[in-house]
Amino acid sequence: MGIFDIADDLSRWVEDAQEGLSGLTEPTLRLGVTGLSRAGKTVFITSLVANLLDRGRMLHLEAQAEGRILAAALRPGPDRETPRFDFEGHRAALLGPEPHWPSSTRNVSTLRVSFRTRPGGLLGSLTGPGALHLDITDYPGEWLLDLPLMSQSYAEWSAKALAEAEEPARAPHAGEWLRLAHDLAGKPFEETDARALSAAFTAYLDACREAGLSGLAPGRFLMPGELEGSPALAFAPLPPGPRKGLRSELDRRFEAYKRAVVRPFFRDHFAKIDRQVVLVDLLSALDAGPAAVEDLRRALPKILEAFRPGERSWLAPLLGRRIDRILFAATKADHIHHTQHDRLTAILRALLREAEDRAAFKGAKTRAMAVAAIRATTEQEVMRDGRALPCVRGTLAETGREAALFPGDLPESPSEVLEAARHGTERGHDPARGWLEGGFRAMTFSPPKLSLKPGDGPPHVRLDRAAQFLLGDKL
Ligand code: GDP
Repeated sequence: MGIFDIADDLSRWVEDAQEGLSGLTEPTLRLGVTGLSRAGKTVFITSLVANLLDRGRMLHLEAQAEGRILAAALRPGPDRETPRFDFEGHRAALLGPEPHWPSSTRNVSTLRVSFRTRPGGLLGSLTGPGALHLDITDYPGEWLLDLPLMSQSYAEWSAKALAEAEEPARAPHAGEWLRLAHDLAGKPFEETDARALSAAFTAYLDACREAGLSGLAPGRFLMPGELEGSPALAFAPLPPGPRKGLRSELDRRFEAYKRAVVRPFFRDHFAKIDRQVVLVDLLSALDAGPAAVEDLRRALPKILEAFRPGERSWLAPLLGRRIDRILFAATKADHIHHTQHDRLTAILRALLREAEDRAAFKGAKTRAMAVAAIRATTEQEVMRDGRALPCVRGTLAETGREAALFPGDLPESPSEVLEAARHGTERGHDPARGWLEGGFRAMTFSPPKLSLKPGDGPPHVRLDRAAQFLLGDKL
Protein backbone atom coordinates (compact mmCIF):
# COMPACT_ATOMS: atom_id res chain seq x y z
CA MET A 1 0.00 0.00 0.00
CA GLY A 2 2.44 2.69 1.20
CA ILE A 3 4.83 1.79 -1.56
CA PHE A 4 2.33 2.89 -4.20
CA ASP A 5 2.78 6.50 -3.11
CA ILE A 6 6.51 6.33 -3.35
CA ALA A 7 8.48 7.53 -6.32
CA ASP A 8 9.14 4.84 -8.88
CA ASP A 9 12.88 5.08 -8.79
CA LEU A 10 12.92 4.25 -5.09
CA SER A 11 10.99 1.04 -5.51
CA ARG A 12 13.10 0.14 -8.51
CA TRP A 13 16.15 0.67 -6.35
CA VAL A 14 14.93 -1.85 -3.79
CA GLU A 15 14.27 -4.25 -6.67
CA ASP A 16 17.77 -3.83 -8.09
CA ALA A 17 19.19 -4.57 -4.72
CA GLN A 18 17.07 -7.68 -4.56
CA GLU A 19 18.49 -8.85 -7.84
CA GLY A 20 21.90 -8.74 -6.28
CA LEU A 21 23.41 -5.57 -7.78
CA SER A 22 24.21 -4.25 -4.37
CA GLY A 23 22.59 -7.03 -2.37
CA LEU A 24 25.83 -8.34 -0.95
CA THR A 25 26.54 -5.22 1.03
CA GLU A 26 23.03 -4.61 2.27
CA PRO A 27 22.36 -5.35 5.90
CA THR A 28 19.74 -7.92 6.78
CA LEU A 29 18.01 -8.18 10.13
CA ARG A 30 16.42 -11.53 10.87
CA LEU A 31 13.56 -11.19 13.29
CA GLY A 32 12.03 -14.29 14.87
CA VAL A 33 8.41 -14.08 16.01
CA THR A 34 7.25 -16.80 18.33
CA GLY A 35 4.83 -17.63 21.13
CA LEU A 36 2.58 -20.53 21.96
CA SER A 37 -0.45 -21.29 19.84
CA ARG A 38 -3.04 -18.44 19.94
CA ALA A 39 -0.55 -16.05 21.53
CA GLY A 40 -1.07 -13.69 18.58
CA LYS A 41 1.85 -14.32 16.15
CA THR A 42 -0.17 -14.17 12.94
CA VAL A 43 -2.02 -11.01 13.93
CA PHE A 44 1.21 -9.42 15.20
CA ILE A 45 3.15 -10.00 11.98
CA THR A 46 0.25 -8.99 9.76
CA SER A 47 -0.29 -5.72 11.62
CA LEU A 48 3.43 -4.98 12.00
CA VAL A 49 4.04 -5.44 8.28
CA ALA A 50 0.91 -3.50 7.29
CA ASN A 51 1.98 -0.64 9.53
CA LEU A 52 5.58 -0.75 8.26
CA LEU A 53 4.44 -0.65 4.63
CA ASP A 54 1.83 1.98 5.34
CA ARG A 55 3.67 3.81 8.11
CA GLY A 56 0.60 5.73 9.16
CA ARG A 57 0.62 4.87 12.86
CA MET A 58 4.24 4.37 13.77
CA LEU A 59 4.97 7.56 15.71
CA HIS A 60 7.37 5.89 18.11
CA LEU A 61 9.38 4.27 15.34
CA GLU A 62 12.04 6.98 15.25
CA ALA A 63 13.10 6.55 11.63
CA GLN A 64 9.46 6.98 10.68
CA ALA A 65 8.88 10.01 12.92
CA GLU A 66 12.01 11.62 11.48
CA GLY A 67 10.84 10.94 7.93
CA ARG A 68 13.89 8.82 7.15
CA ILE A 69 12.08 5.80 5.69
CA LEU A 70 12.04 6.54 1.98
CA ALA A 71 10.53 3.27 0.78
CA ALA A 72 9.26 -0.01 2.18
CA ALA A 73 8.14 -2.97 0.12
CA LEU A 74 7.60 -6.71 0.28
CA ARG A 75 10.25 -8.63 -1.63
CA PRO A 76 10.99 -12.30 -2.19
CA GLY A 77 13.30 -13.46 0.58
CA PRO A 78 16.53 -15.40 0.16
CA ASP A 79 15.07 -18.58 1.65
CA ARG A 80 13.03 -20.09 -1.19
CA GLU A 81 12.44 -23.40 0.58
CA THR A 82 10.50 -22.16 3.58
CA PRO A 83 6.81 -21.30 3.02
CA ARG A 84 6.12 -17.58 2.70
CA PHE A 85 4.06 -15.93 5.45
CA ASP A 86 0.65 -15.35 3.84
CA PHE A 87 0.55 -11.62 4.51
CA GLU A 88 -1.92 -10.84 1.73
CA GLY A 89 -4.36 -13.59 2.80
CA HIS A 90 -4.21 -12.56 6.46
CA ARG A 91 -4.60 -8.89 5.65
CA ALA A 92 -7.60 -9.67 3.44
CA ALA A 93 -9.25 -11.56 6.34
CA LEU A 94 -8.89 -8.48 8.55
CA LEU A 95 -9.86 -5.94 5.90
CA GLY A 96 -12.82 -7.66 4.23
CA PRO A 97 -16.43 -6.48 4.56
CA GLU A 98 -16.86 -9.09 7.35
CA PRO A 99 -13.54 -8.73 9.17
CA HIS A 100 -12.38 -11.93 10.83
CA TRP A 101 -9.20 -13.03 12.56
CA PRO A 102 -6.76 -14.73 10.20
CA SER A 103 -5.90 -18.42 10.51
CA SER A 104 -3.20 -19.00 13.12
CA THR A 105 0.41 -20.14 12.78
CA ARG A 106 0.77 -23.91 12.25
CA ASN A 107 4.23 -24.04 10.74
CA VAL A 108 7.37 -22.04 10.09
CA SER A 109 7.10 -19.29 7.45
CA THR A 110 9.07 -16.23 6.39
CA LEU A 111 8.51 -12.80 4.88
CA ARG A 112 10.94 -10.10 3.70
CA VAL A 113 10.25 -6.37 4.03
CA SER A 114 12.91 -4.23 2.31
CA PHE A 115 13.51 -0.63 3.33
CA ARG A 116 15.34 2.24 1.77
CA THR A 117 16.29 4.84 4.35
CA ARG A 118 18.09 8.10 4.87
CA PRO A 119 20.54 7.44 7.72
CA GLY A 120 20.07 9.70 10.73
CA GLY A 121 22.53 11.99 12.54
CA LEU A 122 25.65 13.56 11.09
CA LEU A 123 26.39 10.46 9.04
CA GLY A 124 23.07 10.82 7.28
CA SER A 125 24.09 14.01 5.53
CA LEU A 126 27.47 12.57 4.50
CA THR A 127 26.51 9.15 3.21
CA GLY A 128 24.00 8.09 0.59
CA PRO A 129 20.75 6.29 1.28
CA GLY A 130 20.83 3.17 3.42
CA ALA A 131 18.97 -0.09 3.04
CA LEU A 132 17.71 -2.81 5.31
CA HIS A 133 16.11 -6.15 4.61
CA LEU A 134 13.92 -7.28 7.47
CA ASP A 135 13.45 -11.05 7.25
CA ILE A 136 10.67 -12.13 9.57
CA THR A 137 10.46 -15.79 10.62
CA ASP A 138 7.21 -16.96 12.22
CA TYR A 139 7.42 -20.25 14.11
CA PRO A 140 5.40 -22.05 16.81
CA GLY A 141 6.75 -21.47 20.33
CA GLU A 142 5.91 -25.10 21.09
CA TRP A 143 8.95 -26.07 18.98
CA LEU A 144 11.31 -24.05 21.18
CA LEU A 145 10.36 -26.16 24.17
CA ASP A 146 11.89 -29.17 22.40
CA LEU A 147 15.37 -27.86 23.04
CA PRO A 148 15.79 -29.54 26.47
CA LEU A 149 15.01 -32.92 24.83
CA MET A 150 18.29 -32.71 22.94
CA SER A 151 20.29 -33.35 26.09
CA GLN A 152 17.99 -36.07 27.45
CA SER A 153 17.96 -39.82 26.81
CA TYR A 154 14.66 -41.60 26.25
CA ALA A 155 14.84 -43.01 29.80
CA GLU A 156 15.49 -39.56 31.30
CA TRP A 157 12.75 -37.95 29.27
CA SER A 158 10.28 -40.71 30.25
CA ALA A 159 11.11 -40.36 33.95
CA LYS A 160 10.61 -36.60 33.80
CA ALA A 161 7.34 -36.85 31.90
CA LEU A 162 5.97 -39.42 34.36
CA ALA A 163 6.94 -37.27 37.35
CA GLU A 164 5.32 -34.18 35.82
CA ALA A 165 2.14 -36.12 35.15
CA GLU A 166 1.68 -36.47 38.92
CA GLU A 167 1.44 -32.70 39.47
CA PRO A 168 -2.04 -31.56 40.52
CA ALA A 169 -2.63 -29.48 37.36
CA ARG A 170 -1.70 -32.37 35.06
CA ALA A 171 -2.78 -35.51 36.91
CA PRO A 172 -6.50 -35.20 36.02
CA HIS A 173 -5.61 -35.41 32.31
CA ALA A 174 -2.97 -38.15 32.50
CA GLY A 175 -5.10 -41.16 33.50
CA GLU A 176 -5.61 -42.87 30.16
CA TRP A 177 -2.07 -42.42 28.88
CA LEU A 178 -0.58 -43.66 32.19
CA ARG A 179 -2.86 -46.71 32.26
CA LEU A 180 -1.85 -47.65 28.73
CA ALA A 181 1.85 -46.93 29.41
CA HIS A 182 1.85 -49.29 32.41
CA ASP A 183 -0.06 -51.97 30.46
CA LEU A 184 2.28 -51.87 27.49
CA ALA A 185 5.60 -51.21 29.25
CA GLY A 186 7.09 -54.73 29.06
CA LYS A 187 5.39 -55.85 25.82
CA PRO A 188 7.01 -56.76 22.49
CA PHE A 189 6.82 -54.10 19.79
CA GLU A 190 3.53 -53.70 17.89
CA GLU A 191 2.96 -50.69 15.63
CA THR A 192 -0.67 -50.41 16.76
CA ASP A 193 0.44 -50.22 20.41
CA ALA A 194 3.00 -47.53 19.62
CA ARG A 195 0.34 -45.49 17.84
CA ALA A 196 -2.29 -45.96 20.57
CA LEU A 197 0.22 -44.90 23.22
CA SER A 198 1.32 -41.86 21.26
CA ALA A 199 -2.32 -40.89 20.62
CA ALA A 200 -3.09 -41.14 24.37
CA PHE A 201 0.00 -39.08 25.22
CA THR A 202 -0.94 -36.44 22.63
CA ALA A 203 -4.48 -36.27 24.07
CA TYR A 204 -2.95 -35.73 27.52
CA LEU A 205 -0.74 -32.87 26.22
CA ASP A 206 -3.72 -31.34 24.39
CA ALA A 207 -5.85 -31.44 27.56
CA CYS A 208 -3.04 -29.76 29.55
CA ARG A 209 -2.79 -27.08 26.88
CA GLU A 210 -6.55 -26.62 26.98
CA ALA A 211 -6.24 -26.07 30.75
CA GLY A 212 -3.83 -23.19 30.02
CA LEU A 213 -0.48 -24.92 30.70
CA SER A 214 2.54 -23.89 28.62
CA GLY A 215 5.57 -26.08 29.34
CA LEU A 216 4.56 -29.04 27.20
CA ALA A 217 6.82 -31.13 24.95
CA PRO A 218 7.51 -32.60 22.42
CA GLY A 219 6.39 -29.52 20.52
CA ARG A 220 5.34 -31.36 17.37
CA PHE A 221 2.78 -33.37 19.31
CA LEU A 222 0.87 -30.14 19.87
CA MET A 223 1.87 -28.33 16.68
CA PRO A 224 2.94 -30.97 14.13
CA GLY A 225 3.46 -28.65 11.14
CA GLU A 226 4.31 -30.79 8.12
CA LEU A 227 4.47 -33.88 10.37
CA GLU A 228 0.68 -34.05 10.82
CA GLY A 229 -0.20 -37.77 11.01
CA SER A 230 3.42 -38.80 10.44
CA PRO A 231 4.82 -42.05 11.92
CA ALA A 232 7.76 -39.96 13.16
CA LEU A 233 5.48 -38.93 16.03
CA ALA A 234 4.44 -42.50 17.01
CA PHE A 235 6.31 -42.62 20.31
CA ALA A 236 5.63 -41.64 23.93
CA PRO A 237 7.23 -41.98 27.38
CA LEU A 238 7.10 -45.33 29.21
CA PRO A 239 7.82 -46.27 32.86
CA PRO A 240 11.33 -47.67 33.49
CA GLY A 241 12.28 -51.22 32.48
CA PRO A 242 14.74 -53.21 30.35
CA ARG A 243 15.50 -51.78 26.92
CA LYS A 244 13.77 -54.28 24.65
CA GLY A 245 10.51 -54.80 22.78
CA LEU A 246 8.27 -51.74 22.54
CA ARG A 247 10.54 -49.66 24.78
CA SER A 248 13.53 -50.22 22.58
CA GLU A 249 11.66 -49.11 19.44
CA LEU A 250 10.19 -46.03 21.14
CA ASP A 251 13.69 -45.14 22.31
CA ARG A 252 14.89 -45.29 18.68
CA ARG A 253 12.00 -43.11 17.54
CA PHE A 254 12.70 -40.56 20.29
CA GLU A 255 16.32 -40.33 19.08
CA ALA A 256 15.13 -40.04 15.46
CA TYR A 257 12.77 -37.20 16.47
CA LYS A 258 15.68 -35.28 17.98
CA ARG A 259 17.92 -35.94 14.99
CA ALA A 260 15.47 -35.49 12.12
CA VAL A 261 13.00 -32.96 13.53
CA VAL A 262 14.38 -30.90 16.42
CA ARG A 263 17.96 -30.45 15.24
CA PRO A 264 17.08 -29.36 11.65
CA PHE A 265 14.60 -26.77 12.93
CA PHE A 266 17.18 -25.20 15.24
CA ARG A 267 19.92 -25.41 12.61
CA ASP A 268 17.97 -24.17 9.58
CA HIS A 269 15.72 -21.55 11.12
CA PHE A 270 16.41 -20.74 14.72
CA ALA A 271 20.19 -20.36 14.47
CA LYS A 272 19.80 -17.65 11.83
CA ILE A 273 17.71 -15.30 13.93
CA ASP A 274 19.27 -11.99 15.11
CA ARG A 275 16.42 -10.66 17.23
CA GLN A 276 13.39 -12.22 18.72
CA VAL A 277 9.95 -11.31 19.91
CA VAL A 278 8.21 -13.78 22.22
CA LEU A 279 4.48 -13.19 22.40
CA VAL A 280 2.75 -14.24 25.58
CA ASP A 281 -1.00 -14.38 26.08
CA LEU A 282 -0.59 -13.43 29.72
CA LEU A 283 -4.18 -12.26 30.07
CA SER A 284 -5.48 -15.73 29.20
CA ALA A 285 -3.01 -17.33 31.61
CA LEU A 286 -4.18 -14.98 34.38
CA ASP A 287 -7.74 -15.89 33.56
CA ALA A 288 -7.02 -19.64 33.46
CA GLY A 289 -5.71 -19.60 37.04
CA PRO A 290 -2.62 -20.13 39.19
CA ALA A 291 -1.46 -23.38 37.55
CA ALA A 292 -1.35 -21.68 34.14
CA VAL A 293 0.69 -18.74 35.47
CA GLU A 294 2.99 -21.03 37.41
CA ASP A 295 3.53 -23.15 34.31
CA LEU A 296 4.36 -20.05 32.30
CA ARG A 297 6.80 -19.04 35.03
CA ARG A 298 8.55 -22.37 34.61
CA ALA A 299 8.49 -22.28 30.79
CA LEU A 300 10.11 -18.83 30.46
CA PRO A 301 13.63 -19.83 31.63
CA LYS A 302 13.53 -22.72 29.13
CA ILE A 303 12.68 -20.27 26.38
CA LEU A 304 15.47 -17.90 27.43
CA GLU A 305 17.93 -20.78 27.55
CA ALA A 306 17.15 -21.55 23.94
CA PHE A 307 18.29 -18.04 23.01
CA ARG A 308 21.48 -18.24 25.04
CA PRO A 309 22.38 -21.91 25.39
CA GLY A 310 25.20 -22.92 27.79
CA GLU A 311 28.61 -23.46 26.25
CA ARG A 312 28.30 -27.23 26.40
CA SER A 313 25.01 -27.24 24.50
CA TRP A 314 25.18 -28.58 20.91
CA LEU A 315 23.31 -25.43 19.89
CA ALA A 316 25.97 -23.02 21.18
CA PRO A 317 28.37 -23.35 18.20
CA LEU A 318 25.45 -22.90 15.79
CA LEU A 319 24.14 -19.85 17.57
CA GLY A 320 27.25 -18.08 18.81
CA ARG A 321 26.34 -14.81 20.50
CA ARG A 322 23.89 -14.05 17.82
CA ILE A 323 20.59 -12.97 19.37
CA ASP A 324 21.14 -9.52 20.85
CA ARG A 325 17.62 -8.31 21.61
CA ILE A 326 14.57 -10.15 22.89
CA LEU A 327 11.20 -8.56 23.39
CA PHE A 328 8.64 -10.28 25.58
CA ALA A 329 5.26 -8.88 24.66
CA ALA A 330 2.01 -9.49 26.53
CA THR A 331 -0.49 -9.51 23.66
CA LYS A 332 -4.15 -8.43 23.34
CA ALA A 333 -3.66 -5.48 25.70
CA ASP A 334 -6.74 -3.93 24.09
CA HIS A 335 -8.75 -6.40 26.21
CA ILE A 336 -8.08 -4.16 29.19
CA HIS A 337 -8.32 -0.43 29.85
CA HIS A 338 -5.05 1.46 29.36
CA THR A 339 -4.98 2.27 33.08
CA GLN A 340 -4.26 -1.46 33.60
CA HIS A 341 -1.45 -1.72 31.03
CA ASP A 342 1.29 -0.85 33.51
CA ARG A 343 0.14 -3.65 35.78
CA LEU A 344 0.14 -6.16 32.94
CA THR A 345 3.66 -5.07 31.95
CA ALA A 346 4.83 -5.25 35.56
CA ILE A 347 3.63 -8.86 35.87
CA LEU A 348 5.38 -9.84 32.64
CA ARG A 349 8.51 -7.98 33.72
CA ALA A 350 8.56 -9.82 37.06
CA LEU A 351 8.22 -13.17 35.27
CA LEU A 352 10.98 -12.23 32.86
CA ARG A 353 13.33 -10.99 35.57
CA GLU A 354 12.93 -14.21 37.48
CA ALA A 355 13.49 -16.23 34.31
CA GLU A 356 16.66 -14.25 33.57
CA ASP A 357 18.01 -15.02 37.04
CA ARG A 358 17.10 -18.67 36.80
CA ALA A 359 18.58 -19.13 33.35
CA ALA A 360 21.77 -17.26 34.38
CA PHE A 361 21.00 -15.23 31.33
CA LYS A 362 23.44 -12.60 30.08
CA GLY A 363 24.28 -10.69 26.98
CA ALA A 364 21.06 -9.97 25.15
CA LYS A 365 19.02 -6.87 25.81
CA THR A 366 15.53 -7.84 26.95
CA ARG A 367 12.35 -5.80 27.32
CA ALA A 368 8.81 -6.51 28.52
CA MET A 369 5.89 -4.65 26.99
CA ALA A 370 2.09 -4.84 26.79
CA VAL A 371 0.91 -4.59 23.18
CA ALA A 372 -2.12 -5.10 20.96
CA ALA A 373 -1.23 -5.73 17.34
CA ILE A 374 -4.80 -4.77 16.47
CA ARG A 375 -6.97 -2.76 18.77
CA ALA A 376 -10.41 -4.37 18.67
CA THR A 377 -11.87 -2.22 21.45
CA THR A 378 -12.44 1.37 22.47
CA GLU A 379 -12.43 2.64 26.04
CA GLN A 380 -15.39 3.86 28.01
CA GLU A 381 -16.12 4.73 31.62
CA VAL A 382 -19.36 3.25 32.95
CA MET A 383 -20.92 4.41 36.24
CA ARG A 384 -21.79 1.53 38.61
CA ASP A 385 -22.77 2.04 42.25
CA GLY A 386 -21.31 5.52 42.20
CA ARG A 387 -17.97 4.29 40.87
CA ALA A 388 -16.64 5.01 37.37
CA LEU A 389 -15.54 1.64 35.98
CA PRO A 390 -12.86 1.73 33.27
CA CYS A 391 -14.42 -0.49 30.59
CA VAL A 392 -13.52 -1.67 27.10
CA ARG A 393 -16.15 -1.68 24.36
CA GLY A 394 -16.04 -4.12 21.46
CA THR A 395 -17.97 -6.76 19.55
CA LEU A 396 -17.98 -10.01 21.49
CA ALA A 397 -16.84 -12.90 19.31
CA GLU A 398 -19.32 -15.41 20.74
CA THR A 399 -22.50 -13.37 20.37
CA GLY A 400 -21.60 -10.77 17.74
CA ARG A 401 -23.08 -8.20 20.16
CA GLU A 402 -21.35 -4.98 21.02
CA ALA A 403 -20.84 -4.47 24.72
CA ALA A 404 -18.88 -2.38 27.20
CA LEU A 405 -17.26 -4.67 29.74
CA PHE A 406 -15.26 -4.29 32.88
CA PRO A 407 -12.75 -7.14 32.78
CA GLY A 408 -11.72 -6.58 36.41
CA ASP A 409 -8.60 -5.12 37.99
CA LEU A 410 -5.22 -6.72 37.66
CA PRO A 411 -3.32 -6.86 40.96
CA GLU A 412 -1.06 -3.90 41.64
CA SER A 413 1.85 -5.94 42.88
CA PRO A 414 3.34 -8.50 40.52
CA SER A 415 4.89 -10.46 43.37
CA GLU A 416 1.35 -10.98 44.69
CA VAL A 417 0.52 -12.72 41.40
CA LEU A 418 3.64 -14.90 41.43
CA GLU A 419 3.07 -15.87 45.06
CA ALA A 420 -0.60 -16.63 44.44
CA ALA A 421 0.40 -18.74 41.41
CA ARG A 422 2.88 -20.75 43.46
CA HIS A 423 0.56 -21.28 46.41
CA GLY A 424 -2.59 -21.76 44.36
CA THR A 425 -0.84 -24.49 42.39
CA GLU A 426 0.37 -26.23 45.51
CA ARG A 427 -3.01 -26.15 47.19
CA GLY A 428 -5.02 -27.03 44.13
CA HIS A 429 -7.24 -24.25 42.86
CA ASP A 430 -10.99 -24.13 42.68
CA PRO A 431 -11.70 -22.65 39.24
CA ALA A 432 -15.16 -21.54 40.33
CA ARG A 433 -13.57 -19.00 42.69
CA GLY A 434 -11.50 -16.16 41.29
CA TRP A 435 -7.87 -16.42 42.40
CA LEU A 436 -6.82 -12.80 42.07
CA GLU A 437 -8.58 -10.27 44.21
CA GLY A 438 -9.82 -8.13 41.32
CA GLY A 439 -11.48 -11.19 39.75
CA PHE A 440 -10.00 -10.58 36.33
CA ARG A 441 -11.78 -12.29 33.35
CA ALA A 442 -10.51 -12.61 29.76
CA MET A 443 -12.80 -12.26 26.71
CA THR A 444 -12.64 -12.60 22.96
CA PHE A 445 -13.51 -9.69 20.68
CA SER A 446 -14.07 -9.68 16.93
CA PRO A 447 -11.67 -7.62 14.88
CA PRO A 448 -12.80 -4.04 14.17
CA LYS A 449 -13.84 -2.76 10.77
CA LEU A 450 -10.65 -1.19 9.47
CA SER A 451 -10.83 1.74 7.12
CA LEU A 452 -7.36 1.78 5.65
CA LYS A 453 -7.17 5.20 4.15
CA PRO A 454 -3.72 5.99 2.75
CA GLY A 455 -1.34 6.74 5.59
CA ASP A 456 -3.71 5.12 8.09
CA GLY A 457 -2.45 1.71 9.29
CA PRO A 458 -4.34 -0.68 11.56
CA PRO A 459 -4.90 0.77 15.05
CA HIS A 460 -2.72 -0.88 17.64
CA VAL A 461 -1.27 -0.49 21.13
CA ARG A 462 2.50 0.09 21.32
CA LEU A 463 3.28 -1.81 18.14
CA ASP A 464 5.46 1.14 17.08
CA ARG A 465 7.42 0.97 20.35
CA ALA A 466 7.89 -2.76 19.83
CA ALA A 467 9.15 -2.06 16.30
CA GLN A 468 11.51 0.64 17.61
CA PHE A 469 13.05 -1.82 20.07
CA LEU A 470 13.31 -4.62 17.51
CA LEU A 471 14.57 -2.78 14.45
CA GLY A 472 14.64 0.98 15.10
CA ASP A 473 18.41 1.20 15.55
CA LYS A 474 19.01 -0.48 12.18
CA LEU A 475 16.88 1.91 10.15
P1 GDP B 1 -1.02 -17.49 16.71
O1 GDP B 1 -1.50 -18.88 16.98
O2 GDP B 1 0.08 -17.13 17.65
O3 GDP B 1 -0.68 -17.24 15.28
O4 GDP B 1 -2.23 -16.53 17.13
P2 GDP B 1 -3.11 -15.53 16.24
O5 GDP B 1 -2.30 -14.39 15.76
O6 GDP B 1 -3.85 -16.30 15.21
O7 GDP B 1 -4.11 -14.98 17.35
C1 GDP B 1 -5.00 -15.84 18.01
C2 GDP B 1 -6.26 -15.09 18.39
O8 GDP B 1 -5.96 -14.13 19.39
C3 GDP B 1 -6.88 -14.29 17.25
O9 GDP B 1 -7.70 -15.09 16.46
C4 GDP B 1 -7.63 -13.21 18.02
O10 GDP B 1 -8.84 -13.73 18.52
C5 GDP B 1 -6.73 -12.95 19.21
N1 GDP B 1 -5.80 -11.82 19.00
C6 GDP B 1 -4.53 -11.86 18.54
N2 GDP B 1 -3.99 -10.63 18.53
C7 GDP B 1 -4.93 -9.79 19.00
C8 GDP B 1 -4.97 -8.37 19.26
O11 GDP B 1 -4.02 -7.61 19.04
N3 GDP B 1 -6.14 -7.87 19.78
C9 GDP B 1 -7.21 -8.68 20.04
N4 GDP B 1 -8.31 -8.10 20.55
N5 GDP B 1 -7.21 -10.00 19.82
C10 GDP B 1 -6.09 -10.55 19.30
